[in-house]
Amino acid sequence: MFMTAPTTLTSPTTGEDRSRERIEQAASDTPFCEACGAPTVPVAEGDEIWLACASTQEHRTLIRRLLSFEALMGHTHQLVIEDVSEQLAA
Ligand SMILES: [Zn+2]
Repeated sequence: MFMTAPTTLTSPTTGEDRSRERIEQAASDTPFCEACGAPTVPVAEGDEIWLACASTQEHRTLIRRLLSFEALMGHTHQLVIEDVSEQLAA
């Protein structure tokens, strides 16, 4: 066993790790959209991280406003992290 710390850029128990765990937990809790069965994907919206239906992401740049409409139609779009900057600073 080597006792020296590995010279990687990542270190355990950082805010980034906790954020990643929350995202992975949310994705494993809801792996597929409840409305259409498409895979869910983590999406950054400013400082927020959402778990969203992949089918609503394909055209979000074209019709971004449709997102809220599609959310009303039942496609998975749930908030995972409210303020990722705060999480990363923790
Ligand atoms: Zn969907």
